[in-house]
Amino acid sequence: LQSKLPNVGTTIFTKMSALAEEHKALNLAQGFPEFDCSPELQRLVDKHVRSGKNQYAPMPGALPLREAISKQTFEASGSEYHPVTDITVTSGATEALFVAISTAVHPGDEVIVFEPAYDSYVPAIELSGGIPVFVTLDPQYDSIDWGAVKACITKKTRAIIINTPHNPTGKVWTASDLQTLAALAEAHDLIVISDEVYEYIVFDGRAHISVASIPSLAERSFVCGSFGKTFHTTGWKLGYCLAPAHFTAEFRKIHQFLVFSVVTPFQFAVAEYLSEPEHYLSLSAFYERKRDLFNDAIKDIGFIQKPSEGSFFQNVSYANLSDENDLALAERLTREIGVASIPVSAFYGRETDFKTLRFCFAKHDETLLKAAGLLNTAR
Ligand code: PMP
Ligand code: GLN
Repeated sequence: LQSKLPNVGTTIFTKMSALAEEHKALNLAQGFPEFDCSPELQRLVDKHVRSGKNQYAPMPGALPLREAISKQTFEASGSEYHPVTDITVTSGATEALFVAISTAVHPGDEVIVFEPAYDSYVPAIELSGGIPVFVTLDPQYDSIDWGAVKACITKKTRAIIINTPHNPTGKVWTASDLQTLAALAEAHDLIVISDEVYEYIVFDGRAHISVASIPSLAERSFVCGSFGKTFHTTGWKLGYCLAPAHFTAEFRKIHQFLVFSVVTPFQFAVAEYLSEPEHYLSLSAFYERKRDLFNDAIKDIGFIQKPSEGSFFQNVSYANLSDENDLALAERLTREIGVASIPVSAFYGRETDFKTLRFCFAKHDETLLKAAGLLNTAR
């Protein structure tokens, strides 16, 4: 069998979680909450399982959930996505991204990807015969180099993938970034695929600015979201895609033959749970406190660390402390001191030497403090 993805191996998240398990290390590597979702949400799932919501959901998603997403999006960004024609419920943001990329990209199309990049974008581009074109950012970058972005646009550029708040750097795009993107996308007729899974996790008074909130971007964008991050339910694999009707019609042609529809009772449960905005608007404060707790506890180690602006990840650079490569260091810290992290080089398509580790702080306070204590001993 000839491999369709010859350069793809097991993901770094799977590898580091397995290593953490093997060494009984605290797992601050793979991004998932250590805590459970709310009992109220669990009761809602139970209610809908017991009330017989156990057969196929409609292909685009249970209508009450699409209506709830439409309302939530309108309240958050003032943009109107019609539940019937513009919203599709997906198997996590992973499926939303895969289908959006498959919908937009034809063989030979170039797709601009900022790296470090979440690992699912490039394989999806390549399976569609597209060519990823990378704009490389330092993991501690201050601002997007829009000159570099412009320089890689050619006649073949079809789409651009963005991610804000960003995994792994924790950067949150500014209004000016989005305005620049809007001008560029319009000038070059680009499709935008926007990964906004951490939309409700932004810190220090920042606002998440969705591409959905800018009409000239919304009309050329697929916006991908996930309830896994927002409700501590990564295992439910429930996400969605917002896109104008003519994009959504093409998106659904692929979605219907990939999964057809996604898990029914959970959709009804999330639809009900979304009706209370406090359930997601409280998330930023919840994670900001954890970020501060963790950063404060590791502050004397001497890492170069800018506080994460959003997401549940904190990057630290150890360039001033050690020459070790990041994969070797992440593995050694897992084995020797019992704290697992992700080497940020894994988010680049080529060799890098940025000497940066990513820690996930979606963990109990005691886990964060224990991990910080162990990291302090490794100084
Ligand atoms: N995009 C980013 C940036 C992510 O961090 C993740 C989650 N790990 C996903 C997409 C995938 O989300 P889901 O688990 O809903 O498929
Ligand atoms: N998004 C998660 C992370 O960045 C991992 C998800 C996965 O393991 N596929 O750690």
